[in-house]
Amino acid sequence: MKSFLKYSKEIGNNFLLTQGPGGNTSTKILENIYIKKSGMHLSDSINNSIFQKVNLNKIISFYEKNKNNQKFEEGLSIETPIHVLLDAKHVFHYHSISSLIISAITKKDELDDFLSKRKIQPINYFRPGYELAKEILKKNNKEEINSFFLYSHGMVVSGNNLRNIRSRIYKIENEFEKLLDNKRLEQLLDLVQINYDTEKKQTFIPNPLPNLNYEVFNNLYFFPDHAVFLPFSFCKDNNSIKKNKNIIFFNKEKLYLNKCLDETEKIYLKVLLTICSYIDSKKIYNVINKKTGDNLRKSDDEILRIRVNK
Ligand SMILES: [Zn+2]
Repeated sequence: MKSFLKYSKEIGNNFLLTQGPGGNTSTKILENIYIKKSGMHLSDSINNSIFQKVNLNKIISFYEKNKNNQKFEEGLSIETPIHVLLDAKHVFHYHSISSLIISAITKKDELDDFLSKRKIQPINYFRPGYELAKEILKKNNKEEINSFFLYSHGMVVSGNNLRNIRSRIYKIENEFEKLLDNKRLEQLLDLVQINYDTEKKQTFIPNPLPNLNYEVFNNLYFFPDHAVFLPFSFCKDNNSIKKNKNIIFFNKEKLYLNKCLDETEKIYLKVLLTICSYIDSKKIYNVINKKTGDNLRKSDDEILRIRVNK
């Protein structure tokens, strides 16, 4: 358990892999499975209090009976079925920013081919939960280490040896550098800084790309938590009435919102603006469409999760 916590914390502390309460890991010990609780931060894996202990047989038979997103226990993450249904001892699920950008800017058949050549199974976008877990299971080859690329969502790496899982995670990130400029990504992450103007009651971000028309990113979501936590649209600053709190206005100097964001929203906004500025004017191929994203936000599980993170 100790080294499982150590590796979970390491992945949780790497912002390129895990942001805020996103991502989750699990380990199976004897008759139990320990799964990260919903809304908890993986970076807090110093002791097992952020993990929920569940009897493995009980939860497996629960999913055999309920082939849907019903929860076995309140407080468990909506992504629990991935952890329960994969039979590997350890399952690491993380939201790699590189994977999100690659999803968006690479043609699907080219990306599927790139991944398959590296023994990474491409998984089309499904709502996080039971359906997604089933899809992953179909592509599980039961090798020593199994890796899955979840379009517009992140990664799953499972196996029985923690050290091998860790090195596989970093190896995959290195492979992604063939499809994206990692230096540029890190520069942009530094550049995107969320500030708050108490006088104007405005959240503002110095514009990392003054010439970018952010309106091209309206009506799409790059990752599930984008849909859940940031249902905002972009609008060019035209000096008209700006009462709407769900619009990110932008001009050459800054992007701004007429409200104060909580910590979770700030983290995801940083991720979103980094992705947008990396994509810039590149063609976008794979994203979560507006309707699918909006339905996810309105689901009971997500309403609970938004509340936990306030
Ligand atoms: Zn996820």
